[in-house]
Amino acid sequence: MRYGALEAGGTKMVCVIGDEKGTILEKTLIPTRTPDETLPDIISFFKEKDIEALGIACFGPVDLDPSSETYGYITTTPKQGWENCDIIGILKKSLNVPVGFDTDVNGSLLGEVIFGQSKGLEDVVYITIGTGIGGGVLSGGKPVHGMLHPELGHMLIRPRTDDPYEGKCPYHRNCLEGMASGPAITDRYGIRGEELDDRQEVWDLEAYYLGQAIVNIILTLSPRRIILGGGVMEHPQLFDLIHNYVQEMLGGYIKAKELEDLTRYIVPASLKGEQGIKGCLYLADMAYRKEVPVR
Ligand code: ZN
Repeated sequence: MRYGALEAGGTKMVCVIGDEKGTILEKTLIPTRTPDETLPDIISFFKEKDIEALGIACFGPVDLDPSSETYGYITTTPKQGWENCDIIGILKKSLNVPVGFDTDVNGSLLGEVIFGQSKGLEDVVYITIGTGIGGGVLSGGKPVHGMLHPELGHMLIRPRTDDPYEGKCPYHRNCLEGMASGPAITDRYGIRGEELDDRQEVWDLEAYYLGQAIVNIILTLSPRRIILGGGVMEHPQLFDLIHNYVQEMLGGYIKAKELEDLTRYIVPASLKGEQGIKGCLYLADMAYRKEVPVR
């Protein structure tokens, strides 16, 4: 099958032609401007490509409830011009193909469990730590949506007593995203994370917050694996520090074979940045087959 895939991000739109095996045949990047400027470029890329279906993983929050009047809309985003944008409706009408649709993090999650190293696992959490923090949850082989979709990045955490930083989230100040996203790191230290590589205390504090979030996730969702992606996780020292904090914060309370080796339990994304777009190819395949995304 010949499918279209769109990974819709706040800074760029990744557009791909590929197939159900996750093969990428053609790819282009379109900068994200206003919907009126951006959507015609996306439509013209896919228009003459003879695709059978389109899969979209989109920044949000998005409305994923098929019975809702605003299904397929980007809802309350602070991203200028995109609030209440009917992105799915517009693309579906212009391209006239079935459209599969989920959040950006669920796209990455599906990419990893269908095509990546977590293939075969049915209970997995994917967290991306970058400009924002987002989390996708696979439970019993299905992405969890619920009333909207999980917003793991905004979970409330306990600030460390020696950290005076007030937090950057406009909604909650010192939620996880407010304390541990890339912009929070830059704001706290006054320089970008890339220039803080050798400052051990920076990554120790970062791991302290991510460790807390991961412990909360283990205690509430009981996943069999947690995958960490996004720009901030490209600091290689973070994984060891996170493993140590998670071990310490769990306090030996949970006994499971998966937790015996945390280096195999809390792992990096395995598809070299292509997990999101490959997840979109899977969403397109599901839409073509009229199936809900179940692994
Ligand atoms: Zn928040």
